[in-house]
Amino acid sequence: LAENIAKAERYLARFTQHGVPNRIGGEDIPAADGAVFETISPVDLKPLAKVSHGKAADIDRAAKAAHAAFAQWAETSGEARKALLHRVADAIVARAEEIAFVECMDTGQSLKFMAKAALRGAENFRFFADRAPEARDGKSLRTDGQVNMTTRVPIGPVGIITPWNTPFMLSTWKIAPALAAGCTIVHKPAEFSPLTARLLVEIAEEAGLPKGVWNLVNGFGEDAGKALTEHPLVKAIGFVGESRTGSMIMKQGADTLKRVHFELGGKNPVIVFADADLDRAADAALFMIYSLNGERCTSSSRLLVEASIYDKFTATVAEKAGRIKVGHPLDPETVIGPLIHPVHEKKVLDYVEIGRSEGATIATGGRKVDGPGGGCYVAPTLFTGANNQMRIAQEEIFGPVLTAIPFKDEAEALALANDVQYGLTGYLWTADVTRAFRFTDRLQAGMIWVNSENVRHLPTPFGGVKSSGIGRDGGDWSFDFYMETKNVAFAT
Ligand code: NAD
Repeated sequence: LAENIAKAERYLARFTQHGVPNRIGGEDIPAADGAVFETISPVDLKPLAKVSHGKAADIDRAAKAAHAAFAQWAETSGEARKALLHRVADAIVARAEEIAFVECMDTGQSLKFMAKAALRGAENFRFFADRAPEARDGKSLRTDGQVNMTTRVPIGPVGIITPWNTPFMLSTWKIAPALAAGCTIVHKPAEFSPLTARLLVEIAEEAGLPKGVWNLVNGFGEDAGKALTEHPLVKAIGFVGESRTGSMIMKQGADTLKRVHFELGGKNPVIVFADADLDRAADAALFMIYSLNGERCTSSSRLLVEASIYDKFTATVAEKAGRIKVGHPLDPETVIGPLIHPVHEKKVLDYVEIGRSEGATIATGGRKVDGPGGGCYVAPTLFTGANNQMRIAQEEIFGPVLTAIPFKDEAEALALANDVQYGLTGYLWTADVTRAFRFTDRLQAGMIWVNSENVRHLPTPFGGVKSSGIGRDGGDWSFDFYMETKNVAFAT
């Protein structure tokens, strides 16, 4: 651990000493009004860097840079874009350790997962790089006297707004397809964890991305974020964040008829029937809520268990949760690091109090942990004796807090699973294949895993229903968002 901390200090020194300027048109640009904000590490709450606090004037400059670079980037051949994006992926791999260490200290996520997340970022670039040459392909449709040719063209400069939980990986997930499609971008990362977004734009420029294709403006949602969603030169907004922010963005973008793609919150059920492989189900349920500090949109935050096995199953989960290592994010053994910020820690601990006052039982956790550095450590928490009306069963807590509810039969399990405003993911555990088909057909979620934890396959669609999102990422779905479909009819 000491060695890792020393290494992290070396990687962070440039940020501590020189801060994080915005990057517009390939140049470091301080905020127009000279403002900065300070970002802190969740490990020890000490300042990490002074970050340029962009506002409307900075967004305007970045949008103009993205607009100026668009025509040439859109005309760059698919093969050239493919080669360049592979170079970005290579550079991510070469700097994966630096990315992972900076991400851990900026977000509190543990190295165990961030080392993989950095490499997953590279995979996102490779996946969309390989598809860049065919992104414009459409089909032809004949009718009497006419041949129709359908193609796709990049929509224009786009805004990408990302959250703080796993910022590096999520940024690559949104930015790689936009660039592969031929769009230029303005990226506004989350104010709580802005550091790896800076590494990413640097990497892309070093790999040869032309100036102005990728612009980075830091700032807060209510100023930089809002200005980006309102800017007339920005044609679409790819957004990952809270559901209520999605609503605000939709309103803000209305005047300029912004196309929007939303990946929002979740209150995802893991449903366990008595006939399931219960050991695997318990491990998967634990992994899906307590990995990534529970700060994960796809986390299984509601555990619905068949009544006949409820007590035994929840006792197993509680016992295993109690043994999960909470600690310094750079300790290779740590699963749960500190939560992102004292404000968020308070929100999570408030929910613990809410659950207690609603009458649920804390089977394990439910308290702050005195961890290294004195940061925002919270013990993995399991509530039992809960019901679906409780706030801890309805609202997204976005921390290591799991709410377990019993069900008596399949009909009740389905009713409980669907009785929330969200619909991002669901996890079903049963040995009965017919039930699995029947249940998943009726479960209101954009993505469902049967007898599995969340394992992403990039060509498949990613996104949610209800308050969990609008639109899908992954495979060709990403290109559909970042491109316009155009039909040309030729008389024959
Ligand atoms: P958030 O909505 O508070 O912020 C996300 C981003 O939006 C930040 O960059 C913020 O500055 C910006 N923003 C805030 N207000 C804005 C406004 N009015 N206009 C424009 N931009 C604005 O979310 P968060 O707290 O950073 O992240 C946690 C949330 O993200 C959780 O709800 C989580 O479920 C969700 N999330 C969803 C996915 C998914 O794929 N569905 C993935 C990760 C996180």
